[in-house]
Amino acid sequence: MAEKRDYYEVLGVDRNASADEIKKAYRKKAIQYHPDKNPGDKEAEEKFKEAAEAYDVLSDPQKKARYDQFGHAGMGGAGGFSGGGFSMDDIFSQFGDIFSGAFGGGFGNFGGFGGGQSRKRVARGTDIRIRVKLSLGDIVNGVEKKVKISKLVQCPDCQGKGAVSEADIKTCDHCHGTGMVTKIAHTILGQMQTSSPCPYCGGEGKKVTNPCRKCSGSGLTKSSEEITFKIPAGVQDGMQLTIQGKGNAAKAGGVPGNLLVVIEEENNTPFQREGDDLIYNLEISVPDAILGCTAEIPSVSGDGSKLKITIDAGTQPGKVLRLRGKGIRSLNGYGTGDLLIYVQVFIPKKLDRKEKEIMEQWRESSSFAPKK
Ligand SMILES: [Zn+2]
Ligand SMILES: [Zn+2]
Repeated sequence: MAEKRDYYEVLGVDRNASADEIKKAYRKKAIQYHPDKNPGDKEAEEKFKEAAEAYDVLSDPQKKARYDQFGHAGMGGAGGFSGGGFSMDDIFSQFGDIFSGAFGGGFGNFGGFGGGQSRKRVARGTDIRIRVKLSLGDIVNGVEKKVKISKLVQCPDCQGKGAVSEADIKTCDHCHGTGMVTKIAHTILGQMQTSSPCPYCGGEGKKVTNPCRKCSGSGLTKSSEEITFKIPAGVQDGMQLTIQGKGNAAKAGGVPGNLLVVIEEENNTPFQREGDDLIYNLEISVPDAILGCTAEIPSVSGDGSKLKITIDAGTQPGKVLRLRGKGIRSLNGYGTGDLLIYVQVFIPKKLDRKEKEIMEQWRESSSFAPKK
């Protein structure tokens, strides 16, 4: 995986830039590297995509907060997490508002890239969002999940076309099949030409005159599908995994939406998580702290096994034992966190008569007096 540049650096803004500054900076980059201005220039296209990705994160308060805290690791560059790999269509559909007006007149409404014909809107299926609960073991080891989801698929009667027959699909009169309508706006900068999807045909350029009975012309019917996907080790609560093309289908000729998997961490574990480190509170008795002992702690991987550790004689309360590499493998593939064991010493509140006598003897014993 290529090293990713810092998103703030990509947009050329500083870390406490306002939402408005971020938007302005993105607009500037987008215009500079826009494919219409740089036809056939692969490097400009990459820069254009890079800027879109940076803006996608920095314009979303939640994603921005995660990025600020965890950097690219928080966005999960690997394994198809959102934030990686925009297609040009994503960029135009997601950030369309940014471009409106910018390419009037001069650049021909950001149509023409890739051949000069007008950009007909490709129908895109909607995304489906599901939540998946993961145990600590799943997070430590990575896991393969199989889920059954109900989703829209292309209608089997009309193959997603929405019409009884091919002859029932007519060119839209309103946009003459282009799928776009153009408006001229008068602004202080002069005339600006803006385009938007045709409201009569939804940007498809076609109209159905005799709709399919089964799907009422939508081209889609309900079905269910079992989907298997891998979740990499090291994910965190709230992260979203994008499984391309596994969302709702679109009409014939369109592209399906994505399946978005939101990670939820089960918190019924004896461990606390801090980034990739895990913390375990171990309570031992006073004699064990003084004489030393071996203690067992549950295994992080959730397989029921136990981890044996040695507590040295004379261990002080509050001591932290660090087991290197026994935490969670980092999502970006660099290293593994540690397991931290916080040693606490249990002090009893109730003693019987005999125990009190023993404590009285301890009190008199010189070894038990704090050293001055
Ligand atoms: Zn149908
Ligand atoms: Zn139309």
